[in-house]
Amino acid sequence: MSMTFQEASERVDRYISQFREGYFPPLLMLARLTEETGEVARVIAHMNGKTPKPGEDVGDLELELADLLFVMMCMANEQGLSLERGFERMMQKVETRDAERWTRKEPGPS
Ligand SMILES: [Mg+2]
Repeated sequence: MSMTFQEASERVDRYISQFREGYFPPLLMLARLTEETGEVARVIAHMNGKTPKPGEDVGDLELELADLLFVMMCMANEQGLSLERGFERMMQKVETRDAERWTRKEPGPS
């Protein structure tokens, strides 16, 4: 499976649009974003020495990051924003502003 941000956002919108409740209002969405960020933090903690509670597993970082992305897509859709355009703008920023910020790898043998 391969999809653009636009396609993923449309898929999220098709899913949410099936339900009368629709998107959560912005502050509730922000709470969900924070909740999912905490779930990412919990998995990272488990992967770095914190012992899971009894009956709790390490967790699934890939799935938790996808949960976070889902909430971000919901936020963008609810606000009528394009994550695809935002991603492009963000990459343009880091590729120009931060072009000399980090130590480049030595070119490999040719
Ligand atoms: Mg989660």
